[in-house]
Amino acid sequence: MSPNRRSFRLQPLASLNPETLNLFKKVFGHKPPHVVQAPGRLELLGNHTDYNLGLVLSLAVDKYTWMAITPRADGRIEIVSSAFAEKEMFSVSNLSKNPKAPWTDYVKGVLLELQKRGIPIRGFNAAIHSTIPLGAGLSSSAAIEVATALAIRRIRPYAFTESGSVTVPDGELPALTVRDKLEIAKICQAAENNFVGVKCGLLDQISSLFGKAFHAIEIDFQSLAVELVPMIGEISIVVCNTGVKHALVGGEYNALRTLCEAAAAKLGVKSLRRVDLDFLRANKARLSAREYDCAYHIAGENQRVISGVRALREGDFVQFGQYLFQSHESSRDHFRNSTAELDLLVGLARAHPACLGARLTGGGFGGATINLVQRSYVKSFMRAIASQYEERSGIRITPMLCQVVDGAG
Ligand code: ADP
Ligand code: MG
Repeated sequence: MSPNRRSFRLQPLASLNPETLNLFKKVFGHKPPHVVQAPGRLELLGNHTDYNLGLVLSLAVDKYTWMAITPRADGRIEIVSSAFAEKEMFSVSNLSKNPKAPWTDYVKGVLLELQKRGIPIRGFNAAIHSTIPLGAGLSSSAAIEVATALAIRRIRPYAFTESGSVTVPDGELPALTVRDKLEIAKICQAAENNFVGVKCGLLDQISSLFGKAFHAIEIDFQSLAVELVPMIGEISIVVCNTGVKHALVGGEYNALRTLCEAAAAKLGVKSLRRVDLDFLRANKARLSAREYDCAYHIAGENQRVISGVRALREGDFVQFGQYLFQSHESSRDHFRNSTAELDLLVGLARAHPACLGARLTGGGFGGATINLVQRSYVKSFMRAIASQYEERSGIRITPMLCQVVDGAG
């Protein structure tokens, strides 16, 4: 063997994040035995369709939350996050909310849901570090939940049978199965619904767990089937945050949800998934104008995901981008979850020659846009949008280039 070709062991990617390792070492005095990572996600197409049991295309992207963990024997839990100043300490027998450190709710919520599934929680020390901006539409909340569930799995191995019951694997920790990923996603969603108090769907958690590099994730929220759709080409994904905060716990999200549910009830169907545009037009008189508009948006989004998957499979990014623009128009005109800033960002992107598609991503009412851009022009696109947006709105933003990556592990 030549001297240059030394053999070396490949480290799992998660253990290579220096900030997480340093934080853990600084706080707990030694190197962590385990580190896991969970990526943020982007909703690529399919807006507010998840809780309507519809279709979504999402991406896991290269902004991560890492959690380093070591077990301890005294039933105490100590957690620190680089996003917050104070280390938090509590006992496994007291997983109650601490209003002074609401971020710990995400961790505690997952511990409680794991316990409900029969997975015993013992003491541990953990350090969390993240490159996912909090509250910017990339779902930092799902990432911290998924990281928690996977970190616990490292110190207390668990897996799921096809029927969803928990098993304890012997020997080396096996790779996550599709069933494991689905059950963990449900546990994390339940943590956010039941303990944190946000009525999120399963999109964020499934995306963080199922992502794959160079693939979009197609999720059917009726059957919970997850398909990976190749997304390979000379394109880049750019996220532009409006700089205007969105508050998911707030009224607008829940109000839209209620309108969608009311529309489904009046149409005599379990969810708007059952409704296509022809049926909707034929039954317009049964709905209020606002309910009709909301149902129209959801039915259109489901159709655009189906058409979008076809375009992706054909490698037709120009056509795919048109669905993104149409999706934004539908949000703006029918669902009305856009804002002037989101419309401005999409308008500027659309006018840029390298932009193939752009739309608001996530809940709406502020937050961010997702942009599909020709790869060779991505830097100039980012510069142009930032300067034009600042000129028009007075808000300075830093567009973010996102690579599509593998899911949590
Ligand atoms: P997002 O759109 O990013 O999911 P949310 O409001 O749903 O926004 O979740 C953000 C909250 O999640 C933060 O305010 C914090 O409480 C918690 N959180 C996310 N990431 C971290 C982290 N790295 N460390 C501590 N808490 C975090
Ligand atoms: Mg969230």
